[in-house]
Amino acid sequence: MAKRFLFSISMALLIILGISVLAQNSTPSNFNGQSWWDYVKVLAADEMEGRETGSAGLQKASAYVVEQLKKSGLEPAGSNGFYQPVQFVSRQIDESGSSLVLVGGGKAEHLVLGEDAMFSTRANLAPSVNASLVFVGYGLKVPEKNYDDFAGLDVKGKVVVFLSGSPADIPTALASHYQSTGERARLLRQLGAIGYISIPNPASMDIPWSRMTLARARPSMALADPTLDDTKDIHLAVTFNPADAEKLFAGSGHAFAEIAALGKDRGPLPHFPLALSLQAKAKVITKNVESSNIVAKLPGSDAKLKDEYVVLSAHLDHLGIGEPINGDKIYNGAMDNASGSAMLLDLAAAMHASNVKPKRSILFLFVIAEEKGLLGSKYFAAHPTVPKSSIIADLNTDMFLPIIPLKVLTVQGLSESDLGDDAREVATQLGVAVQPDPEPLRNSFVRSDQYSFIRQGIPALSMSVGAVKGSPEAAKQKQWLTERYHAPSDDINQPVDLAAAGKYEDVMAALAVKVADAAEVPQWKSDSFFRRFLPQASGVH
Ligand SMILES: [Zn+2]
Repeated sequence: MAKRFLFSISMALLIILGISVLAQNSTPSNFNGQSWWDYVKVLAADEMEGRETGSAGLQKASAYVVEQLKKSGLEPAGSNGFYQPVQFVSRQIDESGSSLVLVGGGKAEHLVLGEDAMFSTRANLAPSVNASLVFVGYGLKVPEKNYDDFAGLDVKGKVVVFLSGSPADIPTALASHYQSTGERARLLRQLGAIGYISIPNPASMDIPWSRMTLARARPSMALADPTLDDTKDIHLAVTFNPADAEKLFAGSGHAFAEIAALGKDRGPLPHFPLALSLQAKAKVITKNVESSNIVAKLPGSDAKLKDEYVVLSAHLDHLGIGEPINGDKIYNGAMDNASGSAMLLDLAAAMHASNVKPKRSILFLFVIAEEKGLLGSKYFAAHPTVPKSSIIADLNTDMFLPIIPLKVLTVQGLSESDLGDDAREVATQLGVAVQPDPEPLRNSFVRSDQYSFIRQGIPALSMSVGAVKGSPEAAKQKQWLTERYHAPSDDINQPVDLAAAGKYEDVMAALAVKVADAAEVPQWKSDSFFRRFLPQASGVH
């Protein structure tokens, strides 16, 4: 009896010990989505004024984020407490002092700004440009595939005109990379072109022209540090309405209809000089702006590995207050990307509550100016607040869209690094399938903050609630993009699937802990295109 009693006490002790050990190492799971949505409701509330970089609204949202991070017991890891201040130059077009005129055949056609075309202040617009035009197909040069839209063309001192997109025989990772603003700017600078006119591919436009143009008077931003500003040598950037693009091709012997038909299926495009030249006048109002990234640390538990970092990132900024649509002028950005920021806050709180202590440290990074061209993350990745070589991975979340049940997870970068295998493993364990990007032509992998880390050689991925191509769920996501993406109706009065959000958090929490606890740091796959950005890698880029 006594012996048995002792035995059961020791068994009970073992069980209790076992449970507490389990509790320490287990990942927070079974998120219900509700706590996440409660954070979204705060971050996407009208008082936050759409969180534009540099705005009082974003400052307010930032203060809230920092307060929550403190509650979750995280340590400040910025350059100024939790903050990492970043300097920007903002550029805003004054259309009343700007004009675009097509000249040729003894005629001058004044374009209607906003209707025919619009300036992009992403570039460093010159007050006046007078140049001839050359159509350069997709405007890409991809040495790996021996592909060159500029072969045999002289574009020096000229403005190039291209259709956005890429030919079908270029793998999508390469195509996305070379379509990024930085790569395009670098190529045009090399070739001596003054600037570009881009024509959105009508077959792959996320949002209709009428809505694209609403934002044209909003300020753009560039990093104040000139060494980080890719676009400083691009003196003209214009986006042309595909519905009016025939105007550009008049007298060239080609029609835009022909180009668009070829571009629809990513067919090869011709290259030729256009018959017209362009006279552009741009009046730009510039301002200095300061705004801050937020960096918080969950210290690792392993004496040695705690000096290595897994970054969990999400952009906190959105578009601010803009042109009203249906009487609403606050671009709340609930999905884009209060949803990702809220997910980080919820994860931090859950890790705190369950006392999870991964071996490596985890950095919770809230970046700004994503909507201005990934600038906050670019700054952080170039000037991280921990040693750059100690960052082993970035897991980014941007607009993960839990508006349909989570059955399949879309993983950007699935086959590029070991992180993809890790994501597949944890998702599968949680009953969720994974797929690579089903819409590679949207260039999503280079369109959010993970790309800033990739450019520094750091393995990264980004995940979102996926839909199988052609399914009703995919149609629902497409409809969301058309109606709510970058519109005031991306607010807290839209249907969400809380269970999907909770499941996504389960996966992200498990993945973060897995990577932070792993014996080995993740590596780029030997055949990954993005491997080239490793600091020791040589070759073209
Ligand atoms: Zn966005």
